[in-house]
Amino acid sequence: MHTIYSDGSEAPEAVVEEACHAGLSCISITDHDTMGAVKMAQAAAVEWGIEVISGIELSAEVNGKDIHILGYFLDLENALLKQKLEEFRTTRFSRIAQMIENLKKQGIDNLSFEDIKAESQSDALGRPHLAAALVKKGWATNSWQAFDKFIGDKCTAYVPKHQQSPKEAIALIRQAGGVAVLAHPMVTNRDELIASFVDVGLGGLEVYYPNCPDAVVLYYEGLARKYKLTMTGGSDAHGKHKTNTWIGKRRIPCEFVEQLRARSKRPEHFS
Ligand code: AMP
Ligand code: ZN
Repeated sequence: MHTIYSDGSEAPEAVVEEACHAGLSCISITDHDTMGAVKMAQAAAVEWGIEVISGIELSAEVNGKDIHILGYFLDLENALLKQKLEEFRTTRFSRIAQMIENLKKQGIDNLSFEDIKAESQSDALGRPHLAAALVKKGWATNSWQAFDKFIGDKCTAYVPKHQQSPKEAIALIRQAGGVAVLAHPMVTNRDELIASFVDVGLGGLEVYYPNCPDAVVLYYEGLARKYKLTMTGGSDAHGKHKTNTWIGKRRIPCEFVEQLRARSKRPEHFS
């Protein structure tokens, strides 16, 4: 789940409260390029009597395609991970500034960096914040249209994020004690790469994802078994910023959480 620390609309405490009301006993906060919300969510979780697993969603790239790698059970104090996340967030700032420049060339001349910052309460600026500013200034009627017309992967104003290979993202997660999981494979649609990710230490596959047909879930369950990957899942809730999912929309049995926890403790996992 995402919070205001990246591109979610809700504070960490509110996410935990909502999760509790939705009847969940364990959640993970997986913000993009920041673990800033995790401690706050964990403190709130003590009050509500649920568990919050530390998490992250890292972006990697293969031939221009964005591949998201989730990390679970991370050491929040890991120095290299903290340093890298800081670097990624800095790059996000310069990237948004570059996209503003590109949009200017298309005639969108009333968008300032401050307008985008005003849409975000976090230091992990992303395209959803830029989309919100474009909507506010009347250049698009909604966020989907802003992506479609201006800032989607194939649009001329688009600027890719920091360049990191999946191998690097997986290694970064593992050296911080975490299990690396391929996020929403049906959305990413690069199944042919999964074997190569397994070779470099991928530990799990996000099999259970909102709005995914049963047949597709069955297919990914099969792939997870084939590669001995731990099956994970969740709602990928972003609060008001993503209306086709919400906290509790996708639930998984506690047994999967325990399998993931057990994997994070395996000695060979770190080699
Ligand atoms: P960024 O990390 O800044 O490249 O932003 C990626 C985020 O933008 C994704 O995690 C989605 O939440 C959102 N996103 C990507 N593509 C679209 C789209 N076509 N329409 C709406 N939101 C999108
Ligand atoms: Zn993602």
